[in-house]
Amino acid sequence: MLELEDLSVTYRISSGRAGSFAEVPAVRGVSLELAAGEALGLAGESGSGKSSIALALLRLLPRSAVVGGRVLLDGEDVLTMKWGRLRAVRWSSASIVFQGAQHGLNPVRRIGDQIAEPLVVHKLASGPAAEARVKELLEQVGLPAWRARSYPHELSGGQRQRVMIAMALACAPQLIIADEPTTALDLMVQAQVLTLIRQLIADHGISLLMISHDLSVLADVCDRLAVMYAGRLVEVGPADGEFKHPYSQALAAAFPTVGDPVSRLAPRGLAGDPPDPQQLPGGCTFHPRCPVALETCASTDVQLLVSGDRAAACVLVGE
Ligand code: ADP
Ligand code: MG
Repeated sequence: MLELEDLSVTYRISSGRAGSFAEVPAVRGVSLELAAGEALGLAGESGSGKSSIALALLRLLPRSAVVGGRVLLDGEDVLTMKWGRLRAVRWSSASIVFQGAQHGLNPVRRIGDQIAEPLVVHKLASGPAAEARVKELLEQVGLPAWRARSYPHELSGGQRQRVMIAMALACAPQLIIADEPTTALDLMVQAQVLTLIRQLIADHGISLLMISHDLSVLADVCDRLAVMYAGRLVEVGPADGEFKHPYSQALAAAFPTVGDPVSRLAPRGLAGDPPDPQQLPGGCTFHPRCPVALETCASTDVQLLVSGDRAAACVLVGE
């Protein structure tokens, strides 16, 4: 359904001197596959390149970004598609749910009109048929149909995120990309929205690429998990298995357990900061922070090594 082949995203930013640019390699050679109806989770610290991947998938990156590799959606390369075809693919083949629903909605338009917009633009419905579809969509995401007449400020954060999900579903896409869809919500509402997403993708057979810094959120919804570090995948495997890469293990251990004072006061996080993409360490980019690094890790750049149903980029995996 979705195939990323050696995807790279490099931002060109002004280096300060007139006419000269510096390069920020945000995504470096990511290859991933997503089967029809599958839910894949993409995890990693802030700055690891997750959103750059999400935006690259539908060519929503700013002009300063140089994209390489291929993004095959049902076999068709999104990166080289003609503009008209790309417009048709957005919303109707694949749609995105962003983190801050506040910023995704127009504050001066009723939400019913905003949900109807992709339907009208894609000529799937108009007039009373579009209104009926909007009501159906609102009910699917657990909002009463009369909410179509509300403005964004009349809804809570969780309700607004439900509206964003209704918009993403409007044109019945095969793929939904959700970038931190619940990060801005409190934990109770987060759980409700996750349950909703889980139900909707199961009911409609939609493929989901769900992005989060929170592994527990991803493990809850996804079949497989992919972990990124400094623009690369360091591990890909089934969501119910054990992580093998020391970075994924540290990421998984970084969340304190509620009610357990030991873990709450001293979460087993990771010391240090993720590397600056402009000054990546040599060898394995994770070695300066790795608790189990060997001498060779400073010089050996390890690619993903497959063992069984899991792939990890670490010399220790498979030993
Ligand atoms: P994540 O979503 O995992 O937090 P992002 O994809 O947003 O990561 O960012 C990856 C890297 O790319 C970061 O180092 C970030 O600073 C850089 N970056 C993101 N957007 C831009 C941009 N428009 N211009 C320059 N650098 C950017
Ligand atoms: Mg992001």
